Amino acid sequence: MDVQVDGKEIAVAAGASYGDAARLAQVQEPLAARQNGEIRELGQPVTDAGQVDILTFADPDGRTVFHHTSTHIMAQAVRRLYPGARLAIGPADPDGFFYDMELPRQLGPEDFAAIEAEMAKIAAADYPVVREVISRQAAIELFSALGETYKLEIIERLPEDAQISIYRQGEFVDLCRGPHLASTGPVKAVKLLSVAGAYWAGDESRPMLQRLYGTSFPSEAGLEAHLRLLEEAKRRDHRRLGRELDLFTFHDVAPGFAFWQPNGTILYHELEQFSREVQQRYGYQEVMTPWIFRPDLWQTSGHWGHYKENMFVVESEDEVVALKPMNCPGHCLMFSESVRSYRDLPIKFAEYGPLSRFERSGTLHGLLRVRGFHQDDAHIFLREDQIGAGIAEVLEIISVIYGAFGLQYRVELSTRPEEFLGEIELWNRAEGELAAALDRAGLTYRVNEGDGAFYGPKIDVHVIDALGRNWQCATVQLDFQFPLRFELEYRDQDGKAKRPVMVHRAIFGSIERFLGILVEHFAGAFPTWLSPQQARVLPVSDRHAAYAQEVEAVLRARGIRAGSDLRDEKLGYKIRAAQTDKVPYLLVVGDREAADGTVSVRARGEQASRTLPQAAFGQALEQEVRTRALRLGAHLLEA
Ligand SMILES: [Zn+2]
Ligand SMILES: [Zn+2]
Repeated sequence: MDVQVDGKEIAVAAGASYGDAARLAQVQEPLAARQNGEIRELGQPVTDAGQVDILTFADPDGRTVFHHTSTHIMAQAVRRLYPGARLAIGPADPDGFFYDMELPRQLGPEDFAAIEAEMAKIAAADYPVVREVISRQAAIELFSALGETYKLEIIERLPEDAQISIYRQGEFVDLCRGPHLASTGPVKAVKLLSVAGAYWAGDESRPMLQRLYGTSFPSEAGLEAHLRLLEEAKRRDHRRLGRELDLFTFHDVAPGFAFWQPNGTILYHELEQFSREVQQRYGYQEVMTPWIFRPDLWQTSGHWGHYKENMFVVESEDEVVALKPMNCPGHCLMFSESVRSYRDLPIKFAEYGPLSRFERSGTLHGLLRVRGFHQDDAHIFLREDQIGAGIAEVLEIISVIYGAFGLQYRVELSTRPEEFLGEIELWNRAEGELAAALDRAGLTYRVNEGDGAFYGPKIDVHVIDALGRNWQCATVQLDFQFPLRFELEYRDQDGKAKRPVMVHRAIFGSIERFLGILVEHFAGAFPTWLSPQQARVLPVSDRHAAYAQEVEAVLRARGIRAGSDLRDEKLGYKIRAAQTDKVPYLLVVGDREAADGTVSVRARGEQASRTLPQAAFGQALEQEVRTRALRLGAHLLEA
């Protein structure tokens, strides 16, 4: 049988495994394989001809398998060290893993070293990880004998005739579906990160277990680089910087909603205004729609049936009404209120209105997970023949917007699932046009076969921040369903009524969340156009205060957010304060500057300063802000 690995044609003998294919293709340090969208273990026989991806640690799926085996190693170590420990569940992802367990005593960070050392022993023993399939009855007997009551609960939920897979490594056995590494050996470096409480099955009436978090790498060097990254991420944590830079706060009286301080409000409005300006260039029309609706609308949109538990529902005049979690139903209503011609399309409604979604209080996380937010949301209503051009335009806007922040991004295309709405020809054509638009934009993308929503295919965009972390932000979603539910129509050229296609799209996604990501991406040192304060004037002594205020006033007249520090403090102290506040430009003024009408300019992050005429500096700064320059000083050099 022939398979393709890395573009190489490989002939595999009957019964050969994915591990054999990896060896023949000379892939270094293989962890697992992927074929037909499924992850396979290296020990499994190759079943089909065709494309095989051999997964290494560089692949997110490869890392997930690696961490998955690591979580079993951690469980094995804990069982050795804490007799009587009971295991619940231990999931993994590309970043790390955790395991929920019941332990004879509360663990703390001081216990981690011993567990890590035991894990290192298990890895060094290089136990083969062996899969076995047994009957439900045999599984019940096995895990009863081990006293694993949580595992028993999982097994008892399975049907009578279920075939159950277990995995053995050394003396340890665990209930698991896999897939796993072939042996424990590759897990060369491990680190336990934290321990927290977690209810069994997320149920507050059940026992509180201990959730032990860790991560692992094929080498010490890889682990160390990752730990440095975590340190840096902690330093950049937007909740911490949000407090330090006085951007936003949270309060127990309104969980999941931010209080925007004056500095944060400036940032927020700059983002919104940037989006507004870009979208106006592309013919978007901004609208404002209600944020509380009667159930009729939610019934038409289908939210009442499928999304109600995520909505804030309130009573008003003996009637139940709900706050909107998204703008689409309102925009559909607006579209349907006028007679639309084929010439009017595409129609692009943009809205920045308030949205709210119920999130469990335990999942809230700074600005990254909130209950109250706003999106740079828009809905495009277009004819079927406009899908390709419409998507190409959205991709262009994405590159303009992310480009302004220096953010790289990667793209995923999700296609028709098994259950879908609409004509298969329309789906095929739409998917073809999405792919063609991505190709024309020069974007490489990953295809998630069958991962689209039932109502349409979609493009998801993940931005990559300065630390290399990925954040899902933009979505571009084709929708064949809403136009149907809202009976949207336009008059076509032949005079007949036709159904438009709808596109949901947001580039920032939630502005709150995007702002949180930007705070961490820039570590609070924003480009000048975003900075709450853009220039701060520092008089050398009291007698230069009047000139400092004059400089500030002239800058303000240009629309620059300038301030001056007139406190009775030493100059060095004021410079340090401005640095802590990450102000882009410090303007020191003393006798000479006052006499000559100049300013001594020091850009953020630089030691040297240069003296410029007041007007020349003001002009250059205005230019830097107006062009939304990413780097400081681009226009200053010309001044
Ligand atoms: Zn497993
Ligand atoms: Zn929408």
